[in-house]
Amino acid sequence: MPVLIDTHAHLNDSRFESDRELMLDRAKNAGVMGVVTIGIDVETSRECLSLAEQYPLLWAAVGIHPNHTAEAHENDWSRIVELSQHPRVVAVGESGLDRYWKKAPLELQEEFFRKHLALARERGKPIIIHCREAASDVVRVLRDEFEKNGPITGIMHSFCEDETIAQHCLAMGLYISFSGILTYKTAESIRQVARMIPLERLLIETDCPYLSPVPHRGQRNEPAFVAHTAQQLATIREMSIEQIGQITTDNARRLFQI
Ligand SMILES: [Zn+2]
Repeated sequence: MPVLIDTHAHLNDSRFESDRELMLDRAKNAGVMGVVTIGIDVETSRECLSLAEQYPLLWAAVGIHPNHTAEAHENDWSRIVELSQHPRVVAVGESGLDRYWKKAPLELQEEFFRKHLALARERGKPIIIHCREAASDVVRVLRDEFEKNGPITGIMHSFCEDETIAQHCLAMGLYISFSGILTYKTAESIRQVARMIPLERLLIETDCPYLSPVPHRGQRNEPAFVAHTAQQLATIREMSIEQIGQITTDNARRLFQI
């Protein structure tokens, strides 16, 4: 059986309320030895941390998602700063930029993105980066940070950009994480990118409950299904799922210091 770490899940989601324990058992049975559950605002960040305190399989990330920055209250950022100190919190985010949903002005998203980058650096924890139809802006902000403060420890989550963007991110020190999208028939260009990422920078994730991999498309996603993404990555890299599992697990443990 492979060992796997799901580096991006939203396990606080109400869709997991009825079967959270069974879902975690299924994850363990699939070889999953760790899951990072990710907050998108203060409330969900708190929920993720309390899950991480409750279940040894789980760790948490805390932050304000770009699409939730407009709803953030005045004190929300200082709460995230506080929560980020907790030892079960292994990353800051998710943060980044999103031009697709248009839920918050880009300037506000960018302001929060920069705050998350600074906080991650201050805490010595990786940043989890969301990027949707905003790759050139994300790279611009990252480059600013890189030029001021040096290599950036973090993850480009559910990577869907091209090879050039991947190269920029790799050069600044970032890891590249692939979700179930890697298994989609139409995602040949993403598989192409996955072929050239150095093995020591590869990660896998579900982004559950969203983005179920084949053969579960259309169903609720859950951490056990990260095995399908691992299998796809193994096929692409001409390795066994055990090898890809070990490599991505070692990477995640090094990055999150778990
Ligand atoms: Zn997410």
